[in-house]
Amino acid sequence: MSEKVNKMIICPKCSKESETELICSMNGKSFPDMKKRIFEDKFFEWKCPKCGHESDLLHPLLYNDIENKFMVYYIPDTKRKVVVDEKLEKEFFELSYIKKRIVSGVNELKEKIAIFDFGADDMAVELAKYAVERIVEKSANMTVSSGYFLDMDRSENTISFQFFVGSENRPYIQTTRLEVYERSMGIVKKYFKGFGKQHGFIKIDREWAKEAWKIYKNS
Ligand SMILES: [Zn+2]
Repeated sequence: MSEKVNKMIICPKCSKESETELICSMNGKSFPDMKKRIFEDKFFEWKCPKCGHESDLLHPLLYNDIENKFMVYYIPDTKRKVVVDEKLEKEFFELSYIKKRIVSGVNELKEKIAIFDFGADDMAVELAKYAVERIVEKSANMTVSSGYFLDMDRSENTISFQFFVGSENRPYIQTTRLEVYERSMGIVKKYFKGFGKQHGFIKIDREWAKEAWKIYKNS
């Protein structure tokens, strides 16, 4: 399933208005080409039909993969930690059994899809990433501005993260033993059981991991 809406868009260059079709909801399994466009940073590209000006047109997108039991709701720059869509939840009864997440950036959208495609738990990944981030900051004496899940190799027993460090936001890849993830998974199972499958879409990010570490340390 994919849903589209028509919107009038004003070009930032020529100021002319044109009607544009925007995909507001899509199934990643049924539309692999659209999914590929997300990962190639092409999904939100827009070209003005009047003057040919090209820019990114960021708009909300509900990415769903019912087969793998997850949905990611991309809402550009949202600060919200929970979004409840009563209509959607009523319409799809099975929604109460799947992981529903909100993300505020395109990189976070790609990261969530990658995590769930790997069959990994995003709460455990965030906890592991937070732990590795602090190791990177200490050992390399650099400030980490952001970090993303990159890869998980069960045969090599490793997990990799892509961090952006220093004032120039330099990319920095850190690979570590999968035990970091497995230990985090243990914390999730013990302290946050059932949390990730509650009502509504929730934000599981660095801020969440920071709070979760506090809860774990104080318990
Ligand atoms: Zn234009």
